[in-house]
Amino acid sequence: MYFNDISGHVEQKRLIRQMVNSGSTPHAQIFHGPSGIGKLIIARAFASYLLCQDKKEDDSCGVCAACIKSHKLIHPDIHFTFPTIGVNVLPSQMMTQWRSLLHENAFATYHDWLKSIGGENKQGNINKEACNQMVKILGLKSFESKQKVWIIWGGEYLGKEGNRLLKLIEEPPDETFIIILLDDIERILGTIRSRCQSLKLNYLSDGDVGYNLQKWSGADQEKINAAAIMSDGSVAAGLNILSESNSPFNALWLDWIKKVITDEAYEISLISDEIAKLNKEQQKYFVQYAIFFMREVFVLKTIPGHKSKLDNIQGAAAGRLAEFWKIEAIEEIIHHLNDLQLGIVRNGNIKILLFDTYLHIRAVSKKLKVAEVKN
Ligand SMILES: [Zn+2]
Repeated sequence: MYFNDISGHVEQKRLIRQMVNSGSTPHAQIFHGPSGIGKLIIARAFASYLLCQDKKEDDSCGVCAACIKSHKLIHPDIHFTFPTIGVNVLPSQMMTQWRSLLHENAFATYHDWLKSIGGENKQGNINKEACNQMVKILGLKSFESKQKVWIIWGGEYLGKEGNRLLKLIEEPPDETFIIILLDDIERILGTIRSRCQSLKLNYLSDGDVGYNLQKWSGADQEKINAAAIMSDGSVAAGLNILSESNSPFNALWLDWIKKVITDEAYEISLISDEIAKLNKEQQKYFVQYAIFFMREVFVLKTIPGHKSKLDNIQGAAAGRLAEFWKIEAIEEIIHHLNDLQLGIVRNGNIKILLFDTYLHIRAVSKKLKVAEVKN
């Protein structure tokens, strides 16, 4: 993997390259920041760069023996630990699945990983045996390179087993580099946090998300532009939106909002049941789409002649809703959808959250409509 494989994180890449080139890379680091922004790509690019036998000023060469192996995820001195499912299952036993997922989607999330190993509704963790194996292998000599790199993906799933790594992190063997990746730095033991140098990565700009989606999805530019805006800085979210462009979310949202406007409580409860059956990631995309849709309604209302980014059916519906609501109503609805999104992130009961949102939008609709809705 190259630094060039991801657009964005410019300052962080510069820092990492500078540390490698000046020989001042810390032996234990934490890369943290939101899910889906490419932390693993940056860590893999760092490992490739460090081990490259002919590194350039900006990136690894891509052609030396070390690069060929590291880019294929088969370098014997680049190790990975990640959450697994089941008692005593080691990451080293899951490498085939791990490589296959990352070759398919370099931005894979924890949810994508569990889904790919058939554990969608299970809890993964980094177990005691995985930590012990890491301590043991890092105590051995490296195989082909002078340095060894160990990337821990999903550091939040270490839990208290992280204590087993304390000594290793405090006094790592020579030429050993450990990188722990996690979304929220508060979710790892303070004892580990204090022994690592941390580097924060942030949400990407819409432009960078768009560039990364173009590189990794192969979708057409119009869809990419819309997905980039909807994905709020996360490439993984954008890829999901694109891969599920024929998904039921868009239609489900339109059905739901129409029934809310016409105040058909029973129909709404049936659609809410459908939404409740989606997994949490899908529920998040449902609301992301709803917010994106309502922003389009807002723009259609405020900028005459605006060409909607939505498809024909959804765009036409958005146009009708722009005529139906006053501008204040559209603003309030977006506000309530943001609350719904927050509720889902905080693991609220989806049916209660949807019912609450329905009541709010119903009230706003009654108060701030300018026309009768046409189907
Ligand atoms: Zn190389």
